[in-house]
Amino acid sequence: MRAFRTYHDPEVALWVKHLTVDFSNWFLENVGVDHQITIRLRAAGSLKTSTGLAAACFGLRNGKPCIWVATWWYYWREEGKVKNRQEARDEILDSLAHEFAHYDKWRRGAARNHRGLQRQVDSMIRQFNYAQGA
Ligand SMILES: [Zn+2]
Repeated sequence: MRAFRTYHDPEVALWVKHLTVDFSNWFLENVGVDHQITIRLRAAGSLKTSTGLAAACFGLRNGKPCIWVATWWYYWREEGKVKNRQEARDEILDSLAHEFAHYDKWRRGAARNHRGLQRQVDSMIRQFNYAQGA
């Protein structure tokens, strides 16, 4: 069984797909995955979630872990001002790491909240960027 099933809308940029695959594989090797995770990259400005609009989200679908990312949010967040690619990359990576950290809490049976989450996110991003030479 593959650790990840990744789907993307056709408009999603290639580099966003590559970043997602690279980070997913880094997470698999360095943190660990106990389930098959479905990742959906949407060419949308936001996602509708149970708690409102979000740029990214972790949740269960039919009991299976899923991560959604609204990739266009990163380009258009500031009233039509297109961000540069480095800014967009950093923000997408931050959201990916955030949602993977939610998965990690869930898989460990920890409470579903943000306690300790940001520290793990920062640490994962540092290690991932170092491994990428970025
Ligand atoms: Zn969160």
